[in-house]
Amino acid sequence: MTTTQVTVPAGARLALATHNPGKLTELRAILTPLVPGLTPEQIISAAALQAPEPVEDGLSFAANAELKARALATATGLPAVADDSGLCVDVLGGAPGIFSARWCGHHGDDAANLELLLAQLSDIADPHRTARFTCAAVLVTPAAQDTADQAPAVTVVERSMEGRLLTAPLGEGGFGYDPVFVPVQEDRPGAAGRTTAQMSAAEKNAISHRGQAFRDLAPVLADLLA
Ligand code: IMP
Repeated sequence: MTTTQVTVPAGARLALATHNPGKLTELRAILTPLVPGLTPEQIISAAALQAPEPVEDGLSFAANAELKARALATATGLPAVADDSGLCVDVLGGAPGIFSARWCGHHGDDAANLELLLAQLSDIADPHRTARFTCAAVLVTPAAQDTADQAPAVTVVERSMEGRLLTAPLGEGGFGYDPVFVPVQEDRPGAAGRTTAQMSAAEKNAISHRGQAFRDLAPVLADLLA
């Protein structure tokens, strides 16, 4: 494999494999309170580094997150974190899964992805509309140059948020499939029944697949960067 090296600015301590500014902000907010001494500015994104985006040809969330984190750790020499996530619908055998961002046939069209999913589930009754968002968060520590241990260390944390899918969108927040996803916490007697698109970012982070995965990865990062 050829590796493109990128120039790392002084002070950078952790590379984050994303080209999405919203995800950078969200993950800085989750990680910095949990990793002593790590500041938001010390977390630098693949976009800011102009690092090339590897082809995501893994067959699982964890495989795709790992290949992104490995590529960035190799290019920067920094510890690198990546995530990969998606929606898994029970009645569709776990689809869209790793194809969540391009379920309609092209990448990143949230409205078309949602419309197709709702059409596919149109005759499925409420009790069978169960689904979960899953996120794999992966930390890759670059190979040590001066020891016999040449293999990068890899930590994988995978977490899910269980819920049920509505038949029509509700709410303006979030992204992707949020407007039809009601997490189990909201789907019980007495709860408001809100979708994740009707929650604030902080409320969603507190229960989300991504929030859980990165909170559980944080102690490993804290040890590494101590
Ligand atoms: P990514 O791996 O975080 O870029 O997510 C891939 C795709 O999964 C997104 O384009 C969305 O379609 C879907 N997805 C992942 N996480 C969420 C979420 O929290 N809400 C809604 N959709 C999500």
